[in-house]
Order: sequence, then structure tokens, then C-alpha cells
Amino acid sequence: MNALLARPLLAAIVLIGFGAIPLLPLPDFWITLWCYIGLSSLVAIGLVLLTGVGGMTSFGQAAFVGIGAYTSAVLTTRYGLSPWLTLPACLLTTGITATLLGLVTVRLSGHFLPLGTIAWGISIFYLFGNIEWLGRYDGLSGLPPFSIAGHALIDSRSVFYVIWLVVLVAVVLSENLLDSRTGRAIRALRGGGQAAESFGVATHRAKLVVFVYAALLAGVSGWLYAHVQRAVSPSPFGVNAGIEYLLMAVLGGSGHVLGGVFGATVVTILKDHLQSLLPKLIGSDGNFETIVFGILMVGILQFARQGLWPMVLRLLPAPPPVKVDTSAEPLPRRPLPEAGAPLLAVDKARMQFGGLVAVNDVSFALKAGEIVGLIGPNGAGKSTTFNLLTGVLRPTAGSIKFLGQQVAGLPARLIAGQGVARTFQHVKLVGTMSVIENVAIGAHLRGRAGVIASMLRFDRAEEKRILREAAAQLERVGLREHLHKPASSLALGQQRVVEIARALCLDPAMLLLDEPAAGLRFGEKQQLAALLSQLRAEGVSILLVEHDMDFVMKLTDHLVVLDFGQKIAEGTPAAVSKNPAVLEAYLGGVT
Ligand code: ADP
Ligand code: MG
Repeated sequence: MNALLARPLLAAIVLIGFGAIPLLPLPDFWITLWCYIGLSSLVAIGLVLLTGVGGMTSFGQAAFVGIGAYTSAVLTTRYGLSPWLTLPACLLTTGITATLLGLVTVRLSGHFLPLGTIAWGISIFYLFGNIEWLGRYDGLSGLPPFSIAGHALIDSRSVFYVIWLVVLVAVVLSENLLDSRTGRAIRALRGGGQAAESFGVATHRAKLVVFVYAALLAGVSGWLYAHVQRAVSPSPFGVNAGIEYLLMAVLGGSGHVLGGVFGATVVTILKDHLQSLLPKLIGSDGNFETIVFGILMVGILQFARQGLWPMVLRLLPAPPPVKVDTSAEPLPRRPLPEAGAPLLAVDKARMQFGGLVAVNDVSFALKAGEIVGLIGPNGAGKSTTFNLLTGVLRPTAGSIKFLGQQVAGLPARLIAGQGVARTFQHVKLVGTMSVIENVAIGAHLRGRAGVIASMLRFDRAEEKRILREAAAQLERVGLREHLHKPASSLALGQQRVVEIARALCLDPAMLLLDEPAAGLRFGEKQQLAALLSQLRAEGVSILLVEHDMDFVMKLTDHLVVLDFGQKIAEGTPAAVSKNPAVLEAYLGGVT
């Protein structure tokens, strides 16, 4: 939720109070410090999105600050451009560099990603230091200041407004971005993004978008820095500075945009105090604050993972929950195939994991408007079959046709686009996001608002329609009163039902449910069975994996039985329940 727009009165008071700072009889030194806090805030906000929200840790943001700063330095000193005019060029150089680095970096997983950022962070630093044209380690000096109508903004009191206006714009744009279709996709990157991918989010692209966005904010900070400092040299753009920026984001609160500003404030002021205090205490010169920052970082990661901003938020009035406009126009529906038409045809699908054949040349079909049960003992290959059908896994061999089209081996998001929605045996929700936001990810493919439209709020009409759909699906599965709770606060059985609502938001032609009734109470199971029957009546086809045989037998039209990866039987529930091979598979181990 947009922290600023949700509390307009508070925001107005803070803004007016803050804007009055330069008018107060404070020493210049203090105002300068606030200018630097603003510059760091821009980088920290980018890191909040990249690291805190998107889960990608970067130590290299200072390099992007450098690219912005050097671009403007070169253009103003060598080509005589006005500092105001160099901003597009700064955005361009930072954006291009970030896109190229991002294409390589965001695909790295685990520890390799932060290591990658350290590597290019160091490389760019040495590049600045070794290029003759950029003045090597001495850098470039004599940069012009910003000026308005011939009046140069040399004193910190006037440049304060320029910097903080840019910060304000960055905060609003970033909050808007997070509170949108694209923002949900970015937030869903946490925890692997497999679920997001299964609902049509191009996760690599979403990662690249945050990566470039964070870099652009750093580039803007560099552009401002160059003309406030009026000189550039490599040292403020090294990995040390990168670590400090990261500390700001982590300390402030890695999930909140304003946490970035808060973190930048705390770290900058602390650094200033420590720099004068520590050498006196220790009795010799040196950058001792780095040690304190190291300890601080470890402490935060140990004891306050969410950072300090959530603690501040607790002191403020809670923002109102996301509004659902029930009068918004419903999203368009996809035409469903006629009942009885062939929908899914699996032919000799095979999945091998090394020597293990998890799915062994399995064939079966599903007609439109049917509920087919896929049953079998644990480890029979049911979930693996789901993963083949939905593009999570690429089959070793075999054909999978959906509505006559080959889908075997297609990426999950393209199969989702054809109307295939699923739930996961091991629930994949973003625990910190509200239930309705999790469900809205299901409607990702039914919206089209992009990054720019989201930042500028041109997406509001579409967003209303998406949230209305999410709320309607939650109501339908009986979770209406849980709309605004964090998903992790629900019981596991209920979380499974949230996954069903999310799948329904895709407006599926085929719904794959992996053990949906596990963990539900008797009454809840009956509700679920009624819902599934109703969906079938509406023309939605369902493939169901479930261990509760009573549930399966009453609901399904057709059963496919797997054992050790092989199909051992199929037919009507009545026929299958008498099949000797099935009885053997289910009871064989027991008797
Ligand atoms: P079910 O859902 O029927 O209980 P699964 O499809 O989850 O069974 O698993 C079938 C077999 O494949 C099991 O022996 C399981 O250990 C194995 N398996 C599943 N996924 C993987 C994987 N990613 N890598 C290796 N083996 C796997
Ligand atoms: Mg399974």
C-alpha cells in the first residue's frame, strides 16, 4: 500500500516540516549533511526494491552512481552542456550499462549473484581510475553547479530543495510501482518465483526491470552528486561505498521504500559522528566506522531482519487496507471449449531424473467439462506429471497437447497464457503479501499495465478490475474475511484454498489441483467439493490429485492411476475401485 498516499495528512505535515529545514538557523554543515542523506536515499530506495523486495543482493550500486556522475562530468566540462540537460544522457548510460550487466547478473542464483555484483563493482571502479580521458584517480574537477535563471545553486540551502524534490519523486514513483501489477510480479520474485512464472510472470524480465530501475535511481544520485560536489573521482564509487548503500537499505527496512530514506539518514548521520568520535577514542586516524558498520550489519541480519522502519511504522496510524471497488467492470473472460471437446491429450509423457523414471510413458486424456482424478501412492509421479503439464519441467520424451497445440517443453508462463492454472502441493504464496495481493497475481495475464504506466498511476482503472476479480474469487472460495491478512497468517489448509482462488483468477480452461483438500476439515472439504462441481458445470475442466478417496470417488468422472511412474489403470471411479492392479498398488504394501 502506498505509504504516502494512504496517510495524506501525515505526509503533508512531514513534507512542510522537512521543507522548512533550510530556513532554520542551523549551521550550514547540517544542511550539507541533509543533502548527502538525500543523495544516498536515492540509491538506498533502489536497493530496497532490488534487494529487499526483489531478493537480489547488490554490492555494486555505487558503480552506477559513478556512471551517472562521470557522464554528466564529461558532458559539462568537455562539451559545455548545462547540468540540467545531461540528465537524459546519465539515464541512458546508466540504463544501458545496467541492462547489459543485468542480463548476465540476474540469471545468477544463490551466492553467485552478490559475488557477481562485487565483481563488476570492482571492475567499474578500476575503469574510472585507469581511463586517461576520465582523469584517472584524480578524476575531473571544475564542474558547473546547477543554476536557475542565472542564479547558481552553490550553497547547500538551495541545492537541498533540488535533491529532496528528486527524492520525493523517486519515493512516489517507487511506491506506485510496488503497488501495481508489475509490483506484485516483482514482490513475487521472493521465494523463487516459480509460482509467479506459472501465472504468466516473465520472472527474468521482472528481475531485469528492478535491476535497471535501481541502477537508474543510483545514476540520478550520481548526476546530482557531480554538480553538488563539482568534482568527481573514483573513490566514492567503489565497493566500500556499495556496502554502505546496502547497509542503508538493510538497516532501514528492506521491504519499505521509506525505509531506504530512513536507513540513509541513520547511516549518514552515524558515519559523520563516528568519523569524528572514533579516531579520538582510539587515538589514531583511520576509517574505523567501517568496523562499526560491519558489526551493525551482522546485528541487523541476526536480530531485526525487517530493519528498523517497521518499528517506526508501528508508531504511526495503520494505513487503510487496499480498497476493493465492487462496481469496477469485470475482467473479460476467455471462451471455454464446448463440453466433451478434447482438451488435453498426454501421449507417452516421460520424465527421467538421472536414473529414476518418475513418469514412465504415461498417456491419458481430458475432455472439456470433466473432472479427472490422478491418483496413486506417494512417489507415483503425480506432482511430476503436473509439472510436465504446466511447463515447470520439460519432459524427457512424449507429447502433451492442449486444445490441439503441442505444449510439451514450453515455458510455464506461455502454458499459463493458454488457460492452464494450477495449485502446488507445497503451497507457494508470498507470506508477507496480503491474501488478496497473492490472489491478484493469478490475474497477471488479464492485465497489461507496464512499468511506466504503473509508476504514473495510469493503471488505476485496470488495477480496480484486477482487485475486484481477486476479491470475487476469494469470496467464492469462502475466504472473504481474510482478504487483507498476510497470507502466512492463515492455516495451511486455508492457504491451499487461497491458491485455488489465485488459480481461478487466471480464468482457466483447465485447472490442476495438487492435493487441494489436504489439511481441510470435513465441512471445508464439502465446500470445496461443491465449488469444484460448480466449476465443472460452468465448463472448467479439472485435473485433481488427491489422497482422500471419498472426496475423489464422489467428485471425479474419470480416474487415472499411477504407480512407480506407470499408468496401471484408468476408467470410471467405480471400475477403478474394483481393479485388482489398483487394489494391489494401494494395499499391496500393507498386507
Ligand atoms: P507424487 O506426487 O505422486 O507423490 P512425485 O511426482 O512428487 O510423486 O515424485 C515421483 C518421483 O520422482 C519420486 O520418487 C520423487 O522422489 C522423484 N522426484 C520428483 N521430483 C524430482 C526432482 N526434481 N529430482 C529428482 N527426483 C524427483
Ligand atoms: Mg505429489
